[in-house]
Amino acid sequence: MPQLPEGGAPDSGPQPLPAARLAGVPARPADAPAGLADRYGRRATDMRLSLTDKCNLRCTYCMPAEGLEWLAKQAVMTGEEIVRIVGIGVNLLGVRELRLTGGEPLVRADLADIIGALRQAHPELPISMTTNGVGLDRKAAALKAAGLTRINVSLDSLHEETFTKLTRRPFLDRVLAGVDAAWAAGLGPVKLNAVLMRGINDAESPSLLAWALERGYELRFIEQMPLDADHGWTRRNMITAAEIRELLSKEFVLSPDPRARDGAPAERFEVRRRTAGSTDPDAAAGSDGPVLGTVGIIASVTEPFCSDCRRTRITAEGKIMSCLFSREEFDLLGLLRQGASDEQLAERWQDAMWLKPKAHGMDHVGLDAPDFVQPDRSMSAIGG
Ligand code: SAM
Ligand code: SF4
Repeated sequence: MPQLPEGGAPDSGPQPLPAARLAGVPARPADAPAGLADRYGRRATDMRLSLTDKCNLRCTYCMPAEGLEWLAKQAVMTGEEIVRIVGIGVNLLGVRELRLTGGEPLVRADLADIIGALRQAHPELPISMTTNGVGLDRKAAALKAAGLTRINVSLDSLHEETFTKLTRRPFLDRVLAGVDAAWAAGLGPVKLNAVLMRGINDAESPSLLAWALERGYELRFIEQMPLDADHGWTRRNMITAAEIRELLSKEFVLSPDPRARDGAPAERFEVRRRTAGSTDPDAAAGSDGPVLGTVGIIASVTEPFCSDCRRTRITAEGKIMSCLFSREEFDLLGLLRQGASDEQLAERWQDAMWLKPKAHGMDHVGLDAPDFVQPDRSMSAIGG
């Protein structure tokens, strides 16, 4: 992996640093737009920051059964370092929203302190968190009090056996208690993330949606991406967005949500219950009763939204990733620990984002072919 050049030593004060480069790609020009701009006219304003690579579940589409080798504690950003990096993003680079993720953010003992410090520094910043929900029942109220705005909980099945098969842990009850507690604590709108796996939980998708709608949760189905540590992903086996729409249309009528998508990864649909006897998949909106809520479909593989991507990612060990599928990452934390100034760190971040690829290329043919190279990092090690 290319690494950024070293910065000035703490005792000598920050020295000018050469630009972050990738072989064959022109460096960011002096007249590049402000903020986290790239070569293709996009600007990242949505920051995903991983708090840890550790996790207490072993979802088959993410982690191997035996887990991964965790980062050493000293390699992971401290709370203070996180607050400084977020501050640079918000104050110098135009970041407008923050999502905390992992690994599993709830396993960090200082989570509420980190959120409290971020909130104090940025009273208006939307701060959300993606979690597997284990232990959230005990922590939701404290996280809300610390300043967390909203929560996403991953929930792939409501059946104990299926949940346990997918996550390799028998924790469904704890996750459901966590979802309820998040709602009760005022961390809504609560969004639920589900990855469908063929022959395991795909048939359950309409009942999962019905359950979410009844409770006022917004369910989003995510196409499985080739980011599992086991490298078991195949295009043939993944459930596509088209299949998800077809599965749901057995019980519901979906019509495009009139609200603007506005760079969101999920395509949203308004949901109505399909009336008995109505099988027309294109039944006109309104012909099947009132809108019950919305559902999102994140079609990263088959209907990618790279041209409108607004994300910048920081891994738990402080590396900048411009894309989930980047094969390049740039070390921000190392520079910070060597004494770089906020301005120098901001410049490195801009350099790295300038190199963001145009698209991840997953939608192209040949993912199952030998020439497709899956990224080294699994989803848990990037921060999904
Ligand atoms: N542990 C937390 C959780 O599960 O919500 C946060 C981190 S997890 C990596 C973030 C999201 O990535 C989850 O919603 C999870 O379902 C999703 N995810 C993990 N591996 C994935 C894959 N291979 N394809 C698509 N989504 C994946
Ligand atoms: Fe853990 Fe989230 Fe990955 Fe599941 S998806 S193994 S909960 S990091």
